[in-house]
Amino acid sequence: MRLTDINTVKQIMNEYNLNFKKKFGQNFLINASVPERIADECTDGNFESGILEIGPGIGTLTYELAKRYKKVVAIEIDATLIPALEYTLSEFDNVKIISADVMKLDIKELCEKEFEGMHFSVCANLPYYITTPAIMHLLESRAKFDYITVMIQKEVVARLCSKPGDSDYGAITASVSYYGSVKKLFSVPAGCFMPMPKVDSAVMRIKLYDEPPIDVMDTKIFFRVIKGAFAQRRKTLSNSLASEFGEFDRQTIAGIIEASGYNVSIRGEALGIEDYAKIADKLHEMKKK
Ligand code: SAM
Repeated sequence: MRLTDINTVKQIMNEYNLNFKKKFGQNFLINASVPERIADECTDGNFESGILEIGPGIGTLTYELAKRYKKVVAIEIDATLIPALEYTLSEFDNVKIISADVMKLDIKELCEKEFEGMHFSVCANLPYYITTPAIMHLLESRAKFDYITVMIQKEVVARLCSKPGDSDYGAITASVSYYGSVKKLFSVPAGCFMPMPKVDSAVMRIKLYDEPPIDVMDTKIFFRVIKGAFAQRRKTLSNSLASEFGEFDRQTIAGIIEASGYNVSIRGEALGIEDYAKIADKLHEMKKK
């Protein structure tokens, strides 16, 4: 079955009485080489892996994943798509479809159950409306993924691949870099989807670290430092953190920034996670006093 063929997509949509739901970010792939390439590159070639897919749609990417990998578990929020998926993926016995909202699932528990004894990774053409919350939900689950490969808006990939001091660098960049290293795989023009979205996309792959690259005493404080550092761009880190950490007075915050080795007028977006960790540890120690 050629699920990227426009006439096939239209036929399936008609037969199952489906319509493209904007609220679920339904833009389906109609270019055959894209799902093939994503499926090929979403791991380091470990086809014995399990793959967790988010948002299978009518099964276009799922089909390519199922052809290659040992087991595919796909989570779809739109229950009306399930009968169509059962049809389009009927030739496979290594695919499980779960009708649910990924944001409401315990991802770690699900993966440990479905992929017991296996390596496993995420592969998804994510809906635009939940791109960053979905990535953070997967990372924060602490499920032991090898890779998280997602197709998302091109601009978000640029943001996630940026470095401290770049104009694109943001809280999400710093947060993701705590969990893994990000690599852009390739760009995908808007014309590869039906309906055609207003923006271009790109595929990126996060290789997750076995252990975080830095030690932090209190991860809650660490992520609050990151959040605070970017909450008010163009303000100094000292002012931004004073707003986030209302429990400390301004002089204490300024003192902590200087004691961590930074100029008090530095801006939050100039620093990397090692720097936020230093400041977070000092805040943690101060809290204990
Ligand atoms: N994988 C298909 C493809 O590449 O053609 C469809 C991708 S489409 C961009 C996103 C899919 O995610 C849709 O099928 C949509 O219904 C589903 N989706 C949206 N929000 C979701 C959520 N919270 N949990 C699970 N699936 C979701």
